[in-house]
Amino acid sequence: MKDTRSPIERLIDKATGYVPGTPPSWPHVTLRCPKCDKHRFVPRDDSDPNGTFRVDANCPGCAGDYQEIRYFDSQGKEIIPQ
Ligand SMILES: [Zn+2]
Repeated sequence: MKDTRSPIERLIDKATGYVPGTPPSWPHVTLRCPKCDKHRFVPRDDSDPNGTFRVDANCPGCAGDYQEIRYFDSQGKEIIPQ
């Protein structure tokens, strides 16, 4: 499997003992690209709505002019940010 982590992510993973391919132990959300269905774990952001479990956003390879970001909870229900 190709390692697509950034140097910072590698450092976080090393520091927390995270094993690639398993959910990380630090607070995270699953980032999914709706175009190519690529998944990756990213650190939870303070701006993410409460209960965010998954964020849909185009990856750098698929990003077009318009970047739509959608939030979903653990049940797969969309969260509309207030
Ligand atoms: Zn993509």
